[in-house]
Amino acid sequence: PEVAAGAILAGAARRYGDRVAFSRGAEAVTYRQLGERAAQAAHGLLARGVRPGDRVALRMPNCLEYPVAYYGTLLAGAVFVPVNPLLPEPAAAKQIADAGAVLTLSPSDVPGLCTGQPAAPPVVDIDVYGDLAHLAYTGGTTGESKGVRLPHRNVVVNTLQYACWGSGSVPALDADGGVVLDQVASEDEYPSRLGTSVAINLTPWFHAMGTIAGLNALLLLGYTTVLHDRLDPGAYLADAERLRITSIGGAPALFAALLNHPAIATTDLTTVRTISSGAAPMPLEMINRMRALAPDAVVTEGYGLTEVTMGATLGPVHRSGVRKVGTVGVPTFDTRVRILDSAGAEVPAGERGEVCVKGPQVMAGYHNRPDATAEVIRDGWLHTGDVGVLDEDGYLSIVDRMKDMLLYKGYNVYPRELEEILAAQPGVLAAAVVGKPDPSVGELPVAFVVPASEAVTADSLMSVVNEQVVAYKRLRDVVFVDQIPVSAAGKVLKRELRSRLS
Ligand code: ATP
Repeated sequence: PEVAAGAILAGAARRYGDRVAFSRGAEAVTYRQLGERAAQAAHGLLARGVRPGDRVALRMPNCLEYPVAYYGTLLAGAVFVPVNPLLPEPAAAKQIADAGAVLTLSPSDVPGLCTGQPAAPPVVDIDVYGDLAHLAYTGGTTGESKGVRLPHRNVVVNTLQYACWGSGSVPALDADGGVVLDQVASEDEYPSRLGTSVAINLTPWFHAMGTIAGLNALLLLGYTTVLHDRLDPGAYLADAERLRITSIGGAPALFAALLNHPAIATTDLTTVRTISSGAAPMPLEMINRMRALAPDAVVTEGYGLTEVTMGATLGPVHRSGVRKVGTVGVPTFDTRVRILDSAGAEVPAGERGEVCVKGPQVMAGYHNRPDATAEVIRDGWLHTGDVGVLDEDGYLSIVDRMKDMLLYKGYNVYPRELEEILAAQPGVLAAAVVGKPDPSVGELPVAFVVPASEAVTADSLMSVVNEQVVAYKRLRDVVFVDQIPVSAAGKVLKRELRSRLS
């Protein structure tokens, strides 16, 4: 695409006009208002001396000001630098300095930026292939968080790769150059219709899944999105029924919280047409329970990482298509995935290796880290650090992260296999497996488990898991905890769990 990321908002603002784009409590912003306010914010940024190409950090939770500041930054030709609002001050300051941000915005800065400014976007010249739209930081789950350079083209392409898939629509440009989707398939064939979906949003917008799926794709699809300040599963379920939501999307941690809440048994979720998960592995057990609650819904799972803007694959949505539950689907449009062994050779279908991705959404490189960039992008292929398997039909399954794999007497143990078995036990609300260092064997698999009742014992869990796996993968201990630590983006913080064992 030759269009800049701001054209997504411009198209949606014209197409969906007075429909509510976002609401929070009694407050709401329509598509038209969002388009006008973002244009005003862009003028406000330029009036404050921000120049195209300058980095602008957004340090705010999801709120009604967020999309105004985000699209305002893009429309000014500046670069959006998302900062996790929960980061402690020193870590946030380090990231903002690393990005070289000229300005950091909090929610209260946004009304002032807009005041007295024109409601039509400024004219700025953007090279969609070279100019950055986002400078986004990786989650830091496995190591130091790194800045990822994402040009406008990446943001537009990755949004379209996901938005078109579930809606039976094709992208087009309106008369003024805004991006819009046109419906080409009937409702019988596709679960959602443009401009009719209602969702509750809990995906943080500072994260890739939030910005691409939770802001850009939802605007293109004409969603009305209700904001909740924090994950309160009881409040979520009450709103889900009251608002007759049509879509549930988020990390598996969201689904786990909903399924573990007592009100799930009495909440009507039959209005839901799409259930989409991403960011971390979704246990099969959870997929099946969600499907039972929303029988008309299509369940999709996407796989990605900040280095591919957001996503590289998506579980098939089309009802008549072949669906392989438990896989993360097939590569999105114009994207290729291959699996390489440690020597860099492609492995046959069905064998494990490193997931490598090529496509227009792959980053332009890490910010100021040429060595790290050269390590992960080789011959145009992004090496993801994830272990995966492609089957004969090209469906990808994620086995685990390479960095989370354990070595027991030289054998590879993938924690996810043990976690899936644990997740399927009725006595288990949540589980995560990590390695405990051991001088004689390397690492011992140990599970942290949130038990469903006091009747569950470590011995009973170990025996049920260990019956199902070969000897070297056996769990050696179970530690009961009140909760499994997860990041704001919903990823289990395994480093923290490992540190509790050493
Ligand atoms: P860092 O790279 O700094 O440790 P991070 O990995 O948390 O940070 P993200 O880009 O947010 O940064 O996360 C990407 C990772 O999330 C992927 O590499 C993969 O391990 C995991 N992931 C994403 N989607 C899925 C999925 N559907 N199934 C399994 N794992 C997933």
